[in-house]
Amino acid sequence: MRRPWSRELWRLTWLAGLGALLGWPFGATALGLAAGLALCLAYHLRQLRALHHWLTRNPQAEPPAAGGLWGELFDRLYRYQKGQRHTQQRLRDTLRRIQESSEAMRDSVVMLDSHGDLEWWNSAAERMLGLRATHDRGQHITNLIRDPRFVAYFNARDYREPLTLPSPIDERQVLQFQLTLYGDDERLLMARDITRLHRLEEMRRDFVANVSHELRTPLTVLAGYLETFGDLGEALPSRLARGLAQMQSQTTRMQNLVNDLLLLSRLEIDRSGDDHAPLDVAPLLESIRRDAQALAGERQTLDVAIDEPRRLVGSESELRSAISNLAFNAVRYAGDGCHIVLRWKPHGDGACVEVEDDGEGIDPVHIPRLTERFYRVDKGRSTATGGTGLGLAIVKHVLLRHDARLEIDSLPDRGARFRCVFPARRLRPGAVNDSHAPRASRAGGQR
Ligand code: ADP
Repeated sequence: MRRPWSRELWRLTWLAGLGALLGWPFGATALGLAAGLALCLAYHLRQLRALHHWLTRNPQAEPPAAGGLWGELFDRLYRYQKGQRHTQQRLRDTLRRIQESSEAMRDSVVMLDSHGDLEWWNSAAERMLGLRATHDRGQHITNLIRDPRFVAYFNARDYREPLTLPSPIDERQVLQFQLTLYGDDERLLMARDITRLHRLEEMRRDFVANVSHELRTPLTVLAGYLETFGDLGEALPSRLARGLAQMQSQTTRMQNLVNDLLLLSRLEIDRSGDDHAPLDVAPLLESIRRDAQALAGERQTLDVAIDEPRRLVGSESELRSAISNLAFNAVRYAGDGCHIVLRWKPHGDGACVEVEDDGEGIDPVHIPRLTERFYRVDKGRSTATGGTGLGLAIVKHVLLRHDARLEIDSLPDRGARFRCVFPARRLRPGAVNDSHAPRASRAGGQR
């Protein structure tokens, strides 16, 4: 079978030849040839007209009937159009299903374009965020959720963690916002109502804080009486004296536990930042070193090394508590004859406080869980040294409140290094006349 294109050529040659042949007996070969070609042109113009007619009037209809090249062209165009219609229908169905499932969701879903303007949202977003279809399409999201914390979150473009905020239309409702970047710099905003979870968490925190607070007074009374009885010393029978000593040590343990629980609750409940001010780290480390040295006695030596001149913006009491926890842990767990160094030094474009010892170290399997409440590597040892299991949890919370993170590096028998890493925005230039300019001080037990 001939291919359509060669059939068209054949038609052209045939008509032109027939015209020339018919004209030849009358001496008008050229005229006959032209007439044949004109006939061929007329045929193509007719097909073109049919094509134009079909495409402009009713492209959905069956194509005009034609044979040869035109017939094949019509067929292909028709099949292509049909394919396109199917694809469009499939896309429309998918879009409708996505919109229906988003509508059925109880969480808010808002689609933002690359500028952050609102493109589409579901009805949960209207209820939770107060968006109105008639007014808000095309508005920038920060015009509608104006909380500075949300604006900072939106602009930071770091959406690894969600943001918890009160709803912009109802202060009592707590929402968790999560932004996701997709496509061509577009963003998807999801908001969930976590009011119930938030209340439960608040109740848990308040309960722990209240119980700890209530336990404080009876424990103080108990400790007071035990101390008074202890003063009787020799007068007590030896069995009673042994029991009394145990009661005293357990009461002290409970007091430490209650104090740590109260501190943790306060760190969780209080809004941070009220008492933050630029601090000289050197005198802070020096005073912690003195306290730790008193605890270590002759068993260990402690140094302070200052290699960073900048000051740190933070709460002195909270930072003292966190760094003291690290230093006292080093004294308690590193073992006798160890050397402990407290450092303030540059780290990337920020700085870090480092507490390093050359003691027994920690097996790396424990490191990811060390900051969990009540997680201990060796429970018996921790209890014997007066540990509550809350020390590193307190350190983690304090650092969170200072935009900092805790890095732990250790190997068994190769010592441990705890680093509190602060970002550059937490640092201020040191005082001009700074007596704590970078230096290293040897400050062992002899100080
Ligand atoms: P604890 O109150 O029991 O000391 P922490 O949260 O402060 O609880 O510490 C958790 C555990 O980490 C401790 O039980 C101890 O085993 C381990 N640890 C902390 N610091 C050191 C260190 N410098 N050397 C070895 N082990 C340590």
